[in-house]
This record gives sequence, C-alpha cells and structure tokens, in this order.
Amino acid sequence: METQDFCKLMAKEIEKDDLKTKKQIADLRDSLIKKHRPNTIPSLVEIMTYLPRGSYNFVIKPTRTMSGVSPVALMTKPIPCPHGRCTYCPGGPNSQFGNVPQSYTGGEPATMRAIRNNYDPYLQVFNRLEHYVLLGHSVDKIELIVMGGTFTAFDKEYQEEFIKYSFKAMNDFSKLFFEEDGTLDYPKFKKFFELPAKDFQSEERTKKIHKKLLEMKGECELKTEQEKNESVKVRCVALCIETKPDWGLLEHGNQILKLGCTRVELGIQSVYEEVIKKVNRGHTIKDTIDSIRILKDLGFKISAHYMPGLPLTDKKKDLEGMKQLFSDEDYRPDMLKIYPTMVSKGTPLYLDYKKGNFKPLTADSAAEIIAEFKESVPEYCRIQRIQRDVPTKQWEAGVELTNFRQYLFQKHKPKCKCIRCREPRKREINWDKVEIKINEYGASNGTEYFISAEDTENDLIIGFIRMRFPSESLREEITTSSAIIRELHVYGVATNIGAEGSVQHKGFGKKLLKKAEEIAKQNKKNKMIIISGIGVKKYYYNLGYEKEGPYVTKSLE
Ligand code: SF4
Ligand SMILES: [Zn+2]
Repeated sequence: METQDFCKLMAKEIEKDDLKTKKQIADLRDSLIKKHRPNTIPSLVEIMTYLPRGSYNFVIKPTRTMSGVSPVALMTKPIPCPHGRCTYCPGGPNSQFGNVPQSYTGGEPATMRAIRNNYDPYLQVFNRLEHYVLLGHSVDKIELIVMGGTFTAFDKEYQEEFIKYSFKAMNDFSKLFFEEDGTLDYPKFKKFFELPAKDFQSEERTKKIHKKLLEMKGECELKTEQEKNESVKVRCVALCIETKPDWGLLEHGNQILKLGCTRVELGIQSVYEEVIKKVNRGHTIKDTIDSIRILKDLGFKISAHYMPGLPLTDKKKDLEGMKQLFSDEDYRPDMLKIYPTMVSKGTPLYLDYKKGNFKPLTADSAAEIIAEFKESVPEYCRIQRIQRDVPTKQWEAGVELTNFRQYLFQKHKPKCKCIRCREPRKREINWDKVEIKINEYGASNGTEYFISAEDTENDLIIGFIRMRFPSESLREEITTSSAIIRELHVYGVATNIGAEGSVQHKGFGKKLLKKAEEIAKQNKKNKMIIISGIGVKKYYYNLGYEKEGPYVTKSLE
C-alpha cells in the first residue's frame, strides 16, 4: 500500500476510535502495518499531518520540554578551530566523516538536520519549529543552542549573521502562522509546509519549502530582529554559545552579549596543565580560570565540559580533578557536562590507541568514577549530560553503551543532589512544605547566592535564582555596587505563556526575585542587573526593570 494511503487510513481509524495516547496510536500502527504493508513505515509525526490539530493531546517526546522551554539546536558550518585540533576531536572540515563541523561526526540528529538545511540558521530554525508544531509542542519559549567548533573564533560578521537570521526565523514563523491572539493558523501552516505530503521525507518537498523560505529570508539587522523578538509569539528565552577558555575572555564575552547570549558552554576538559597540553587544547589552566571568572562577572551562566579518561590521567586523578571543580573556588560551574574520552578514527588519539599507547575508559570504569563524583556535587550545580550526543557506532573505542546514563543509575544508584536530579518532572509537590532556601558561596573571586524554592518534604526544587556580587566591574552597566542575576528558572511542563502550567505560573519567579533584591540591599548593593533572554525582557519590564545595554536593570534605592 502507498504510504500516503496508509497514513490516511491511520487517521481515519484514530478519529473513529478517538485514540488519544501515543501508545494507542503506535499499537494501531503496528497492527495495521502487518495487514496493509505500506511502502515505507511512516513516523508518528508524519501520521499527525493527516489529523486536524488538537485531535491528539499528547506530546511524542515529553522529556524534551520538561523544563518549560523547547530547545532548538543549530549547527554552524564547518570551520576549523584557530589553534589547530585537539588530539581526540572528531570531525571538522574535510575529515574522516566528510565536511562536518569540528567535534561532530555528521551522525548526530542536529548535524543531520543542519546538513539538510545547508547550515543555514534561518532554514534550521524553521525546520525545527515545524516539527515542534507537528508534535503538539508549545513553541513560545525557545532556547537556541548554537553548536559546532569555537563560535567566538569565527569571523564576527558570520557570528552576527548566524544569530540575526535565527531571530528573524522565529519572528517570521510567528508572523506567518500565529494570529494576533496567539492561536495557530493550522491550515495555513499545513499549506506552507506542503502537508500532508505524499512523501514526508522527499527532497522535492524540502526543495519547495526551502525555495519559499529563501525568498522570505531577505536582509535584516540584528538589533531590529532582537527588538521584534521581545514581543512575538515564538520568543528566544535563552541563547547558548559554545567556546573554549582562550576564546571566552572579555572581548569575546562582550561580543556574545551583543548577540543576546545568556549561557556559555565552556570546554575546560581538565584541571591539569599537563593534560590539556598533551591533548593540544591550545590554552592554559590560567585561561580556564580567567574565562570562568570573566564570564560569570559579565552575568553568563556557565556549563563546563569535563573529560575523564584523557591521556596522563587515571581513575584516581580523574576523580580528584572532578572534585576539584567544586572544592576549588576558581571553578564552581553552574552546570556540568561530563564526556568520557572516546576514540574517533582520523585523530592523533586514534593512532596512539592503535599503537597501544592509549587506553580509553570503559563504561564500567567511567560509571564508577562518575557515580562516586556525583555524591559530592553541590546543590547549585546541574549535571546536564554524562555522555556525548554522538551515536556510539561513530566511535572506535571508549564507553560502549548508548544508554550509559541509565546503566550508571541502575548499577550504582548514586545519591546525587544536583539540580537535575531534584527537578519535579512529573513528581507530586507538597506545596505546604515549599520553602525559600539561600546558599551563599564564594566563586571566582565573587560571591554567589543560590536562592531556591524547594519542597523540603520531597526534596524537589521548584525554581531558583543565581545572583552574583561580581569580583570586578567589567562594563559600564555593572557598577561596583551592583548585583547581577545570572539565572532565574522556574520548573514546569512547557505551557503557552498565559496558560496555566503545573508549576510555571505559581508566582515563584516573583517571590525569588524579591528575595534576591532583599539580599542585595542588605549587602549595600544599589543596583540589580539581570542577564535576560531577549524573549523574557518583557517579563522584567513589568517588574520595574528597564533595558540597559544587553541587560535589564533596576535601581534598588
Ligand atoms: S576546541 Fe573543541 S572543536 Fe576545536 S578542536 Fe578542540 S575539541 Fe574540537
Ligand atoms: Zn544529579
């Protein structure tokens, strides 16, 4: 049977039996496949395109938007890193994997999407938003994640162009498919994306859509698109950029502030000088420490990347190094990604491995180290990932499990106090036991306040603020008596702004902000500065904040 006819048949059955859950629909698909043998097996998204929107009330991948925000990962075009190449780094221009971004293999979902869209940010954003709409996700709060190489080392013009077209795509998507009152014009959306399509994956369909989009893309200005984004439907609430310490200093920090960046993914990889030298990181430990301090002083959130299992380390040294990230005030990142070293073909590390001079960590030993480390992670840090999002088959050696995280938790059951492990997700909250907690600690020569709303009975975190008294004033907006809020986050299932979410709209954002302002005043600070995603600025304007440079600020006097 033609796939298209099969999808139509599915849609009819779904409507007839009023099926509502993902499982019901997947079961139906399995049973109909046996009977009708379609030419290709359609994905659930594809089947959705044959149904009127709203007839299904589930989200196919619910975990993606659990923290209230929908991530859109974009990939820049392949550009080499200026210092050369780290010895373990896969991919890059004209690599073993073809012409792919540095540090990626072409097998990651985001890279594949980028390639399909010629690395064009405008096309990539539209493509991702299209999928989110089809999956029934809310798209009004977007976290833009820019990946691939060392972004801040790229030509400034390219950096700006990449970001401005990402904003323009969100603005144009809003204008095209959403009414003034925020409702989606689904028929118009379907028509534009040629849905339902005879062949959902066909190149012909992609070409047609690209043609329409490229005609719309036109010229634009960064500032204008940012301003527009403050009040459109699809808002950028966070913008994350990847870099390395020697490209994460003051000049680079200022540049990405201008672009609207709120979080930096910083590849530090090790705390040992000899290790980063050996793997040709092209920076020093001093750069790492300076970069972390400067970026925090500018208000950024920092997600550090650490690689256990690099050459010149062993289990003991790795564990000590990771623990140093928190015992040593010079590090103390807000978030952490732990990437056990993997061996990729076409790298100097691969040659060492082949010669028997390098042995990567196995899943077993990596799990042991990470499990023990987790027990010492402080409550203000969020462990984001413990494995790279690169398919296991792309590696020659190293942690051999795709579900490494699951394996680690099942085998070691670590008691982790990190933010991620205490997020509510679908767990019940006892609202009578919610308290505001304050954790003050020194970090990178400044003082940090981690102010959280927590359900003390169930040990769940409902929301938090990171406020810093900077170590020095690096910009004119940041006076010596300023406090800076680097993050305000309230958890909940992604909801449309204005609609009732399970956690999002219980007013905790305001309560936490009030507490932060109170603490700042008690410490003789007279100005509050907030680094805010472009699309969240309006929220702060309503609370008495005003735009000042890349920030929003308020006098506390
Ligand atoms: S800095 Fe990152 S992307 Fe560049 S070569 Fe090193 S690991 Fe690869
Ligand atoms: Zn944790």
